Amino acid sequence: MAVTIQFSQGAVEPLHLSNAMMAVLMDTLCIAGSLIARTESEINILLKLAEQDASVLGDGLNGFDIGVLLSGFDAFESGNFLYRVSSATADTATLNMLPYKTNIELLKNAAEHFGKLALAFASTGSAKLLSIPAKVKPHQQCSLHNIFIGRYGCIVCNNN
Ligand SMILES: [Zn+2]
Repeated sequence: MAVTIQFSQGAVEPLHLSNAMMAVLMDTLCIAGSLIARTESEINILLKLAEQDASVLGDGLNGFDIGVLLSGFDAFESGNFLYRVSSATADTATLNMLPYKTNIELLKNAAEHFGKLALAFASTGSAKLLSIPAKVKPHQQCSLHNIFIGRYGCIVCNNN
């Protein structure tokens, strides 16, 4: 069974992934994101993303629409943030925190496609100078994976 991540309002092809690759992409996005996030809304985007993880949804894998995921966030800022996160999924700093080995080429392909979807969403917003982040309240993070912990806990701990 495959999972689909799409942006139904954009022209980029949907991203189809195996269940296993979906899990790897979600884990690495959350790890990379935790290393990059600097603002409250970036942390909230990561928490929202982690909530899409299949292991916490009892009803099987459905994938998600980036436009729905990021609704309520500034399109330009949130889309660009997820693009930057997708570009860092195969970085050494990210992979060092992944508790299993994965196929780097497959991960890079999936992350690159995800990045295109994120940019397509960003392009629906209006470009602006990115604001200087306000001081962020400390947020609880997994001691093993650095991941911001939402109501379902750490996505990497949950998947392993
Ligand atoms: Zn963890």
